[in-house]
Amino acid sequence: MRTSQLFFPTLREVPKDAELVSHQLLLRGGFVRGVAAGVYSYLPLGWKVHEKISQIVREEINSFGGLEIHMPVLIPKELLDESGRSSVPVLFALKDKNQREFFLGFTHEEVVTDIVRGTVSSWKQMPLYLYQIQTKERDEPRPRGGLVRGREFTMFDGYSFDGNEVDLDTIYRANYEAYGRVFRRCGLDYLAVEADPGAIGGSENHEFMVLTPSGEDTVLRCDSCSYAANAERAELLEIVPATFADKKPSAVVDTPDAHTVEQVAQFLGVEADQIIKTIICSADGKPFAALVRGDRELNLPKLARLLGAKNTVLAEAEVVREVTNAPVGYAGPVGLEIPVYVDNELKQEANYVVGANKADAHCINVTPLQDFSVTAWGDIRTAVSGDRCARCEDGHLTDARGIEVGHIFKLGTRYSKDMSALFQNEQGEKQPILMGCYGLGVSRTMAAAIEAKHDEAGIVWPISIAPFEVCVIIANTRDEVQKQTALNLYGELRNRGVDVLLDDREDRIGVKFKDMDLIGIPIQIVVGKGVSEGVLELSLRSKKGERHNLPLESAGAAIADLVNAEKARLLLEE
Ligand code: ATP
Ligand code: MG
Repeated sequence: MRTSQLFFPTLREVPKDAELVSHQLLLRGGFVRGVAAGVYSYLPLGWKVHEKISQIVREEINSFGGLEIHMPVLIPKELLDESGRSSVPVLFALKDKNQREFFLGFTHEEVVTDIVRGTVSSWKQMPLYLYQIQTKERDEPRPRGGLVRGREFTMFDGYSFDGNEVDLDTIYRANYEAYGRVFRRCGLDYLAVEADPGAIGGSENHEFMVLTPSGEDTVLRCDSCSYAANAERAELLEIVPATFADKKPSAVVDTPDAHTVEQVAQFLGVEADQIIKTIICSADGKPFAALVRGDRELNLPKLARLLGAKNTVLAEAEVVREVTNAPVGYAGPVGLEIPVYVDNELKQEANYVVGANKADAHCINVTPLQDFSVTAWGDIRTAVSGDRCARCEDGHLTDARGIEVGHIFKLGTRYSKDMSALFQNEQGEKQPILMGCYGLGVSRTMAAAIEAKHDEAGIVWPISIAPFEVCVIIANTRDEVQKQTALNLYGELRNRGVDVLLDDREDRIGVKFKDMDLIGIPIQIVVGKGVSEGVLELSLRSKKGERHNLPLESAGAAIADLVNAEKARLLLEE
């Protein structure tokens, strides 16, 4: 490809409403164009990167027997009714002319299970692994940062079908390993973490995180063992209850206008860890109270697991007022007539400050079990940096920010049961098929790669997913020798299978450098004055400022070798 023929409308200015660097650079480099909030068109450069990532995924999934299919974006409502997912909040819903209801595909467990049920009826037809790379539609409440969180995005989604737990485990591990190779080949520093299964359900699951400060997720890693988990999920150690010699009598005190933890702490002159937050929630419509220390966050997924309830949410203000008989902000456990679930950490101390279920008042010197009854203790708070590791009990957790680029699940019979996808096992018994599902955000990976590697001049693409591997820049297009030399090299590199861009524009060399840096071409060759002495100039985008002379004679072979070496290095690097 020649730049004179390419369409890459670059922008000099940073687009105003683009908050994340990846969003800014994708727009500035002419990779994508916004169409609506969270909806983008890919321009030629953007689509090339997209397709390179897709191809890496394909190769790695095919390597263990994955079969590529293509399912529709349009899904009849009845299919999602079968699994109970037709009211998932992110669904885009529509009707056809005959008022038949459809959803736009947000993930395809139901569609793929529908293909398999009735067709796969014997253990002999499994293992089976079907996948696609396809556009997904989700009406995200907060589309953010361009391709990081779109409402329309590309996902690789794979689905495995097995007749026994051992085979399910084997395919799950194969995916886990393949995901690692995909992200390494894409030049990404990633971490696989244990995660919350969320709306998809199922048992074991891992998220793959690209570690970068702009990530939305917090991950916690043990500094002593290999435990790593999403902070939402990270387990905490069981706590041994303390015995209290100095329990003081509880009392109600006035706290005018103080209702947040900070305000109460300041007013009473105590630390946030001496306060208990009482959070009124509801599980499947029934109200209850959840208690965590003032400096901690309540973790709803953990709470839902403790309760075994599907729909665990914060209660509406009206419900809070009803159960506490007080304005919002003054809830406390003493005298409450609803179940009270208490975080394990609160076993450790006595004499806490709690809300008094009365405006402008709090109770002091309140101790669980002594001043109020506890329905159940549990690990219901979000883990933070510094917490002890529950796995090895030796180390401590440290935190990092990450972008979730992949998520794999052992679903078990979550969908096959509801949708009657049954098979006959070796003993001739009918059983639901064991499933796994595996998602990888192709478009999000593209954005994550930019978040992870960029500088003030633009994107620093890893060579495997760069729009071009090499650019050959003609310093002075009016110089016939330079022009001809560049054309020859361009031709040779193409013959050697290098993905090369020839910058043959009549612009000043400075403009060309700026553009090639902005769009992040990893290997940059300048054909300039040195040609008369038989030398070219080579520089690497990742080592800006360093220039090397390259003998013209062997330049084609040397560049092709460098491209291959760089790609191989990515896969090997841990
Ligand atoms: P998130 O928690 O970020 O909303 P999710 O857990 O809902 O994502 P999954 O259903 O696990 O996402 O989807 C599989 C993969 O698809 C994710 O790991 C991510 O890489 C990608 N993905 C999910 N939602 C989006 C989105 N709105 N935009 C871009 N990529 C997405
Ligand atoms: Mg996920």
